Amino acid sequence: MGRRRRIFEGKAKVLYEGPEPGTLVQYFKDDTVAWHSKKKGTITGKGVLNNRISEYLMSRLGEIGVPTHFVRRLNMREQLIREAEIIPLRVVVRNVVAGSLSQRLGLPEGSVLPRSIVEFYYKKDDLEDPLVSDEHITAFGWASPYEIDEIMALSLRVNDYLSGLFLGIGVRLVDFRLEFGRLWENDELRIVLTDEISPDNCRLWDIKTNEKMDMDRFRCDLGRVEEAYQEVARRLGILPESATPAKPEGKKS
Ligand code: UDP
Repeated sequence: MGRRRRIFEGKAKVLYEGPEPGTLVQYFKDDTVAWHSKKKGTITGKGVLNNRISEYLMSRLGEIGVPTHFVRRLNMREQLIREAEIIPLRVVVRNVVAGSLSQRLGLPEGSVLPRSIVEFYYKKDDLEDPLVSDEHITAFGWASPYEIDEIMALSLRVNDYLSGLFLGIGVRLVDFRLEFGRLWENDELRIVLTDEISPDNCRLWDIKTNEKMDMDRFRCDLGRVEEAYQEVARRLGILPESATPAKPEGKKS
């Protein structure tokens, strides 16, 4: 592929102009940030693994009728996506208390919630994504009441499906973050799932040991970050042979 126009560079991904109008190429980097960009680093091979994991999860969701922007994976680090109009919200679904919920409400990490909770955050990096309510969303026109209902329903559907999928491979889906966009489909403006679904934006704990298998290993300096991402891919049955990152010296697999 020749030189493409770079549309946007984010923290973990780059978006390039796609081969046809209405498409984009999403490139997955190894760059990693946490705590609202206060901690920066690189997880070797993460981009390759997240590209593959997100392809797998988005495809499975597509098969059960959840509309997504994903079209197909192009190579180790790139996937073709449909260009959607961004909805400036970050949607977090929680099953178990962790992270900011534990801090905000003083709840012990690890307690199972009485029911799944959906939270909305305004997508604004310089404000560190503040928590917002439906009232803010409709008052400022970020999404309509109908779209909020649609986003809630899709988020809960994604949660039910992914919770079961991960449970089947011995992983607890503690919480995760989704993003949505708008896309014209058959003369109808539809809400579609965008961004990625990977250990970068999910909390995944081993069902038996509660060991963290996600971005928290990087955030909290727990070590063996690449290995955790690889283990998620391995359990999903999609570990690409050639993507195995080099092991740090003195370690065996
Ligand atoms: N999350 C994310 N990007 C962020 C912050 C959070 O993808 O910049 C994900 C995180 O992996 C978790 C969920 O959103 O699955 C809920 O995170 P939380 O609100 O607890 O914030 P955190 O404590 O991670 O900052």
